[in-house]
Amino acid sequence: MQESKDKNVLYSNASAWELLSPSEEKLMNERVANYMKFVGACKTERATLKYLKAEAAKLGFKELPPLGAGKALKPGSKVYFINKNKAIGFAVIGKRPISEGIRMVAAHLDVPRIDVKSNPLYEKHNMALFKTHYYGGIRKYQWVTVPLSLHVNVMSLEGKEISFVIGEKPDDPVFTITDLAPHVAAKLQKPRTSEELIHGEELNLLVGHRTAPGTEEEKQDRVKKMVLEILKKEYKITEEDLSWAEIRVVPAYKPREVGFDRSMIGAYGHDDRVCVYAGFQAIASIDVPEHTAAALMLDKEEVGSTGPNGAQSDLVADFMAMLCEATSGKTDFASIRNAIVNTKVLSIDTNAAIDPSWESAYDPLNSGKIGKGPWVAKFSGKNGKSGSSEVDMEFLGYLRRMFNKENIPYQFGEMGKVEEGGGGTVAYMLANNNMEVVDLCMPTLCLHSPFELVSKVDYHYSVSAYKVFMENSY
Ligand code: MN
Ligand code: MN
Repeated sequence: MQESKDKNVLYSNASAWELLSPSEEKLMNERVANYMKFVGACKTERATLKYLKAEAAKLGFKELPPLGAGKALKPGSKVYFINKNKAIGFAVIGKRPISEGIRMVAAHLDVPRIDVKSNPLYEKHNMALFKTHYYGGIRKYQWVTVPLSLHVNVMSLEGKEISFVIGEKPDDPVFTITDLAPHVAAKLQKPRTSEELIHGEELNLLVGHRTAPGTEEEKQDRVKKMVLEILKKEYKITEEDLSWAEIRVVPAYKPREVGFDRSMIGAYGHDDRVCVYAGFQAIASIDVPEHTAAALMLDKEEVGSTGPNGAQSDLVADFMAMLCEATSGKTDFASIRNAIVNTKVLSIDTNAAIDPSWESAYDPLNSGKIGKGPWVAKFSGKNGKSGSSEVDMEFLGYLRRMFNKENIPYQFGEMGKVEEGGGGTVAYMLANNNMEVVDLCMPTLCLHSPFELVSKVDYHYSVSAYKVFMENSY
């Protein structure tokens, strides 16, 4: 625990593992087991939303009435709000009037991945492949030669939703992106820089290699034909359906415990489904909060928070207006604006923790470390704090009281060196609504890779921090 008490002039923060009592360790293990189940099952935004909606319904959350429905909720009411099937918000109505603002945590449910192009399928050298277009800031060389699964969602011509997944069940086939053998890489690949090692147009997904039966005259594209015949027979879709579909390609493996001591979780999608689920667990465990509590899971953070489901969208104001009317019956400008400007937000996202093998990319004194609990980042942005909203000392003081009162470990840090690191979150976009916002980060290793790492103890104390933040007033 932090020695922030006056008697000790030296400020040190020990490992969060040392704080764990046996009962807390039990709670940590339960939270982690449920998270691992979630992150193994939810490989796309749609799957995430569906899973959370089902869990929330089981816990008694009801759909938030639309604007115009009048006053419908009272303290303790639990509601969810779905925006265009890509963003989801949860709220538990508090004792205080909504004009005093709410306590919100905000995460993003999109994850860096590989998408399939609109005209994906082609055949070359006896192999069938899909052209792809990656999504978000991936390091392309990390995504070749790993087992990948395919997640397909499409509306049929008749308006019926067709969804299927290939590669997640133990006996499913998987897909992969090929890479050059070292034996033949000398001229083409060795001179390239790491970021250029694999080009976007080289991320082609191998999807088949067997020929469909046919006559000598029909030899053309018979591997492609075989793939299409299987798609038609087993999944009821055609080559044209592929053009109309949303198709995600993601790592096919399950989350695993990492280390002799099983202290870490390795998985695809921690950024930012780890905060999505931690936020959900936190709000799901709240009874009647002081202020209204909310958890908002947004889309498109990895590409700039654009579109109707991103943090730049009016959906944040819509959500606040719906909560305002549903709890107070009021829809006037002053009521809605008061609710917004008095709101405090934790922007909850992963952040790149210091890595002992790559220490010189960081300022060791000012870096987040795994195992030291939730990480306060006063600003994000890069090169002179460019693009950052930066939290003020008044809100930091509020958090300081909270962490100390609730005995929750915390740490401070920036992302990498001043002119080498940096990155954004949804914080500044929510702050643009005139809300008070701070980034509370989950220390993460191998960020944006197909196998990201977080510490179990950081996960546990993040859920605890989000819960007390949403539940109380300090
Ligand atoms: Mn993120
Ligand atoms: Mn990210």
